[in-house]
Amino acid sequence: MAEIYDIAILGAGPAGISAAIYAARARLNTLWLDRQFAQGGQILNTYEVDNYPGLPGISGMDLGEAMGDHAAKLGIEPVRENVLSVENAEGSGSEKIIRTKKHEYRARTVILACGASHRRLNIPGEEEFSGMGVSYCATCDGAFFRDKTAVVIGGGNMALEDAIFLSRICQKVYVVHRRDEFRGDQILQDSLNTCENVEIIWDSVAVEVQGTESVTGLKIRNVKNDSESVIRTDGVFIAVGLVPNTERFQELVVLDKGGYIIAGEEGITQTPGVFAAGDIRTKKLRQVVTAVADGANAVASAQHYLMTNK
Ligand SMILES: Cc1cc2nc3c(=O)[nH]c(=O)nc-3n(C[C@H](O)[C@H](O)[C@H](O)COP(=O)(O)OP(=O)(O)OC[C@H]3O[C@@H](n4cnc5c(N)ncnc54)[C@H](O)[C@@H]3O)c2cc1C
Repeated sequence: MAEIYDIAILGAGPAGISAAIYAARARLNTLWLDRQFAQGGQILNTYEVDNYPGLPGISGMDLGEAMGDHAAKLGIEPVRENVLSVENAEGSGSEKIIRTKKHEYRARTVILACGASHRRLNIPGEEEFSGMGVSYCATCDGAFFRDKTAVVIGGGNMALEDAIFLSRICQKVYVVHRRDEFRGDQILQDSLNTCENVEIIWDSVAVEVQGTESVTGLKIRNVKNDSESVIRTDGVFIAVGLVPNTERFQELVVLDKGGYIIAGEEGITQTPGVFAAGDIRTKKLRQVVTAVADGANAVASAQHYLMTNK
């Protein structure tokens, strides 16, 4: 008979790591899965996290590692597997079946902490040149563009952070934004304004990534007068937001219009025994500090569920 875990935590970003820490301390028989090698989820993509209390200016990589080490000290580490589906087991009460390519696991409760992924633009050339000049992670790929030209597309925090980061590496950085003002935090806008090698192109959208073996240019269109032009560039960094990783859970939980799992602060979804934590759920502020709080809350809710549904 296959082992039935008390709790399965899917994801090892801040929400999942926090959940794992709370589950380990509660001595729950826990299965923890993540598809990536390093722990930390999205924060691995940022060079600096400056708003997590107590750790000003820590790099995303260091924060992810410190969180992962904390969990490991409590004797829990994620199994490296990509979760393909989660479903209610037939005829066995509230058990859930978690499927990966290699295994089929069973757990009484599941915490979905799979976070979010980069949104794509779906323009010609984007996929073709992905990894050959097109990137979704300035921290990961910025070093390949030392003393070269890069374009950042977007106007939120992610785009501003990427542009500031790249301005320290690249000779020239363009920021292409579809509106005439940024959505990102004022502190980042102020910082960007001090970068002398950054040029902002307002009211413009990316139309096509151009290149031969790698990227050579980005065609853009001005949304006010419809004129098109090409920026000569070696790199295109796409930072136009995120999409929740809920595609695989559409049948399991109720999602809102944006694809986020409908769940409040306690992480309780409309499916008994299934909880949501972190960026994957409906909430106002998607940050590390709210994700770790969610992880803790979701475990508390799962524990309560286990006690009341024996
Ligand atoms: C560039 C950037 C900069 C940021 N800067 C800051 C900042 O300065 N301060 C701040 O507070 N927040 C910042 N954030 C936001 C912060 O990173 C997120 O709010 C936080 O990481 C959310 O944590 P999470 O655990 O919910 O999800 P995620 O961090 O997205 O982690 C989800 C995890 O689930 C795993 N996963 C997904 N699907 C599957 C699957 N099918 N099977 C197995 N595993 C799966 C992923 O591999 C990942 O490890 C930034 C985000 C980005 C992208």
